[in-house]
Amino acid sequence: MQVAAITGKEECSLVERAEPHPFGNMAVVKVLTAPMCTEHKQYTSGHLTVCLGHEAVGVVSAVAQEGRVRVGQRVVVMPQYACGACSLCLAGDFIHCRNSIDALSATGNSSGTATYAQYILKPDWLLLPIPDDMTTDHASLACCGLGPTFGAMQRMEVTEFDTVLIAGMGPVGLGGVINGAFRGAKVIAIEGHPYRAALAKRLGASAVIDPQSDQALAEILRLTDGLGATASLDCSGSAGAQRLLLDATRRRGRVAFIGEAGELTIHVSNDMIRKGLTLFGQWHYNLTEAGRIMEVIRRSRSLLDLFITHTFPMSEVKQAFELQRTGNCGKVLLHPWE
Ligand SMILES: [Zn+2]
Ligand SMILES: [Zn+2]
Repeated sequence: MQVAAITGKEECSLVERAEPHPFGNMAVVKVLTAPMCTEHKQYTSGHLTVCLGHEAVGVVSAVAQEGRVRVGQRVVVMPQYACGACSLCLAGDFIHCRNSIDALSATGNSSGTATYAQYILKPDWLLLPIPDDMTTDHASLACCGLGPTFGAMQRMEVTEFDTVLIAGMGPVGLGGVINGAFRGAKVIAIEGHPYRAALAKRLGASAVIDPQSDQALAEILRLTDGLGATASLDCSGSAGAQRLLLDATRRRGRVAFIGEAGELTIHVSNDMIRKGLTLFGQWHYNLTEAGRIMEVIRRSRSLLDLFITHTFPMSEVKQAFELQRTGNCGKVLLHPWE
């Protein structure tokens, strides 16, 4: 099978790897769509790898035993290789599993854990069936496109009464605009890139604030009766934006951190005790809520067509990385069989 590889700094190509075989509850999925996430950073830095990507949808092509999926079924492939047996996995919080499986040594395969590939191995319980009335590309947004912000809004119980502030209009933050709009909340976006700011508006943001402006906080307060947002999500991973969210969220509000980042200084008295904020760390969403994210997808079709700005055959992965580096895109999808 063909797999995309980073072969040097700003260099990538397709390489041939052995097609994986199923083993135990590990099914093989023929990848039809591999949404692109942050892998362009590896392309830019020259991090050599033949294992790219963590988002995929496809069709089950082989199983070793009867289980939760059957050959021919279309499925969303969940990230990671959680154990399926610990208390976190049993509660649906598999993304936080501490006993992840080494899928290759467990199955005797030499490849099959990348999503920028024609086939992937996955435990059957981490494959979500796709409803017949949903396109494969739309279903792929149940990965990082809509997933992390959906998970955060579920935990923060975002409703139409909320004013949601979202920092970072990359492909995760833009998905957050769709999730906020779906819930009927007022959404304010924070983004400086003109293409992404414009796309956030088209997806339903009522206002887009430039984080570089020294009036950013004042502007958000002006839009929120001087109180600040009720629920905020950081999808930028930038400490400056995270600080802005803490300052622009009202007392007793909630803030979710989604963008991968490092250190942030929190003032215990001013930010936490006196404001009474609740902070969340959010990676993905709980598996028991999979039916609900499918419903968000089913009812948001026209917005999803705006959100997915580009699709590329996997043979053009270099062009796709170069596009992502410009920021002039929303969600970008790869098709490994084109
Ligand atoms: Zn991702
Ligand atoms: Zn586990």
